[in-house]
Amino acid sequence: MFFSNTFKHITKQTKNLTRYKHADTHWSVVRKKVHAVDKALNHFDDFYEQVYSKNWLLIRKALLKKAHKYVAVLNYYGDIEETKRDLELRGALNMRTLFNLEKGYIQEQLNQNKRDKALEEIFKIDAELENELKDSKESENSSKTFDAKDFSLKTSLEKAEFDTRRLINTQDALSTELLHEFIPATKIKGKEDFFLESSHYKMYDQNTKFNVKVEREFDFHFPEHLNIYCFEEGNKSDFDSPKKSTTGVLNYYLMDGGSILPILALDLKPGHKILDMCAAPGGKSLLALQTLYPDRLVSNDVSHSRVNRIENVFNEFLFDFDEKWLKSGKIRLSNVDGRAIEGENFDRILVDVPCTTDRHSLHENDNNIFKPTRIKERLKLPELQRELLYHALQLVRKGGIVVYSTCSLSPIQNDGVVHMALKQAWEETNMEIVVKDLSPALLQTKSVYKFADKNILKYGHLVVPHVNQNYGPTYFCKLQRIN
Ligand code: SAM
Repeated sequence: MFFSNTFKHITKQTKNLTRYKHADTHWSVVRKKVHAVDKALNHFDDFYEQVYSKNWLLIRKALLKKAHKYVAVLNYYGDIEETKRDLELRGALNMRTLFNLEKGYIQEQLNQNKRDKALEEIFKIDAELENELKDSKESENSSKTFDAKDFSLKTSLEKAEFDTRRLINTQDALSTELLHEFIPATKIKGKEDFFLESSHYKMYDQNTKFNVKVEREFDFHFPEHLNIYCFEEGNKSDFDSPKKSTTGVLNYYLMDGGSILPILALDLKPGHKILDMCAAPGGKSLLALQTLYPDRLVSNDVSHSRVNRIENVFNEFLFDFDEKWLKSGKIRLSNVDGRAIEGENFDRILVDVPCTTDRHSLHENDNNIFKPTRIKERLKLPELQRELLYHALQLVRKGGIVVYSTCSLSPIQNDGVVHMALKQAWEETNMEIVVKDLSPALLQTKSVYKFADKNILKYGHLVVPHVNQNYGPTYFCKLQRIN
């Protein structure tokens, strides 16, 4: 009797435990729970495989690694020489040196190319002359042979031009296409996310076509005071946390290696007035200041708490921030929606937009843009991005430069947004905007970065993560407003 009562009691309790107490950890519950990071991975698997085909597996592997690669931006106001020595002892390399070495190598190849062309020319002339000589009945013709040959060698060496198309495959002019170019069409059906993400573009699709002028750029200016260190390809060393220098500021700022390119693409010059439209937490603003070029920098962000983060970063890295930088008006912290900023005739504008932050979305559940509660925000991202870029194009002075950037692999958020902003500018204003194709210039950075094939991009450039060189993703597109 006692036994059977106890048994009854136990079975009752077990039932209760199963139904209530283990609700969160029970296998059936655990199995069903899809975290935001999983949603992000599913979305990327569906979408990016269509865009990057086999390369997606390589990119995916790199993105899923927790430890990704940083570069160290040395603080000009810290103990710079000592820091350089320390980093070099640890095997870190100055990126300026790496870029210059690559530049020298490219120049050598181009010269070789020039020489090859000249030789080709000589052989061609030799062959022509040989034929001429065969035909000629008069022997004095032979004396002209040498003159012609010498002349051709000299002029062809002088006139030979580099055939950059042999180095990089780009288009000179692009015309508009429908948005579905930015979306793998087979994936739209049944995939509401993709459909919604692109639906707001539909109204533009039926409109008239427009032409985009694209100019190639051959050089990439690395500001003389900027010192950035990285570890070479395959070297998995990490930088230590930054240290306080004798002036009280930190000696370097660590950032994703891809993030320096949008600032380098801005082509900053001394005396420039710069707007960093979406600046928090302030990494790229700080990088711009480290060139020592800006006369005035406006660092803006829509989020108040994030503007405070910019201020903290500036306090940590800029000596006497309040007196020397804020009160002097050299830096202005601004807290408005980027689309509402009013004209200051900026020379340069960085539009580093909010995006799906692909790497972050695969590792952090907190505040993840793939959380169901943020779906509307996520689907509206391309529209917000386009509005921010379009506004920047209107704010920049004639002749000024706007760089648009994201840390996403999404062709909709990248080239798709640039496309729509250019189209809007074409339809609604008289602005003339030129897309700068940096492909030839970026050749000098190829020992540091892996770029997506230019054939899958229409306007910008994309640093893709790789396990041996785990930077990015960073998309950036340089636009110059002509009038
Ligand atoms: N450029 C920053 C850096 O390098 O440290 C990172 C910028 S983060 C990718 C995008 C930022 O855009 C976020 O801080 C976000 O608060 C801000 N943002 C979002 N919507 C905005 C808007 N409408 N206007 C201005 N900033 C906005």
